Amino acid sequence: MKILVLNSGSSSLKFQLFDMPSGKALVKGLAERIGEKTGKFKANDFVVEKALPSHKEALELLTEYLLNPDHNIIAYKDEIAAVGHRVVHGGNTFVQPTLINDEVKAKIKELFSLAPLHNPANLVGIETAEQIFTKARQVAIFDTAFHQSIPVVNHKYAIPEEFYQKDIRKYGFHGISHQYVSREANKRLNSENTKLITLHLGNGASATAVLNGKSFDTTMGFGPMNGLIMGTRSGDIDQSIIFYMMDKMGYTAAEVQNILNKKSGMMALAGSNDLRDIETAAANGDKKARLALDMYAGAIKKYIGNFTAQMNGLDALIFTAGIGENSNVVRRLATQSLEFLGIQVDEEKNKNPQAFNGDITGENSSVKVWVIPTNEEQEIAMQTFQLIQ
Ligand code: AMP
Repeated sequence: MKILVLNSGSSSLKFQLFDMPSGKALVKGLAERIGEKTGKFKANDFVVEKALPSHKEALELLTEYLLNPDHNIIAYKDEIAAVGHRVVHGGNTFVQPTLINDEVKAKIKELFSLAPLHNPANLVGIETAEQIFTKARQVAIFDTAFHQSIPVVNHKYAIPEEFYQKDIRKYGFHGISHQYVSREANKRLNSENTKLITLHLGNGASATAVLNGKSFDTTMGFGPMNGLIMGTRSGDIDQSIIFYMMDKMGYTAAEVQNILNKKSGMMALAGSNDLRDIETAAANGDKKARLALDMYAGAIKKYIGNFTAQMNGLDALIFTAGIGENSNVVRRLATQSLEFLGIQVDEEKNKNPQAFNGDITGENSSVKVWVIPTNEEQEIAMQTFQLIQ
């Protein structure tokens, strides 16, 4: 069975076609600059630059590519049994993979206010796929769903009850990734009754405490700015700063939002949101870059301590996403001096985790430390497959 996975952004569309249940990726690609003068479409080795006025033209190009007999992928469009859509915000409503109908689409629309940058684009992707893959079942996989298991003690904010009644609470994000790597970790531990911390460190970053296979707490909250320091987002700050910026310094709410979302984090500390540049600068003696790395790793350590205390122990610590998978510097800094928690990394293995199946656990470590590459698309394909089975 073929399952197409779509991740629609406002001007982009990422896709992968999977053969299920093998989970083999047959086609992988991306349409960029949708709605601009010239767009770019890439599927496996095929690349074309041309105007893509909307997501529809991008999906039509994909269909053409898939049906091209030279590529030997599918002979009929209807071979695609289902389309799995990544949807960022599922609010309190969606706790699992969901077959899309008019009611579900209306609810995703209602949630625009909670994810104004993502849910509208996700809905465009859904509506376009419905037009093109008319026979396929459309399934929504929500980035917040995995975190709906977070107990009230961890998802409620200590603000007046009326706001909680109006759905102001911790939702958490990157759920598809945290779920994928935590399941992989539990396979390695051969148990579901485990205490894990999953560190998704990409341009956006979040840490999750996964207790017995379920999200128990996470660093992002109502929105995606909270918690760890990120590429351009501040992570945790004192709320009073926001009011000071607005009341005493004359910034508007939109300007503050832009500063905390787009101009903060590593960009503010070290002048770049690309960790590779920062590592190079730090290695060349740049003090700002050095401090930025220490602060970045320090924020991670604070939550390792927090989550380990909450779960009364830890079985495994998992690094994933662009930085987690690739930066031995961040992994070293974020785990050093944690021997008292039973965490110790083997520095030789840390420099080349692939050679050790991602296992960088030190000899004296009671906690496993793993680098597990995330695969959100495969997770979406798998959840879609299980739902339609
Ligand atoms: P993602 O959002 O998961 O694509 O991750 C993007 C982040 O990963 C960027 O900050 C990159 O600088 C970082 N990254 C990618 N490759 C490396 C690498 N080899 N070393 C350090 N950081 C990397």
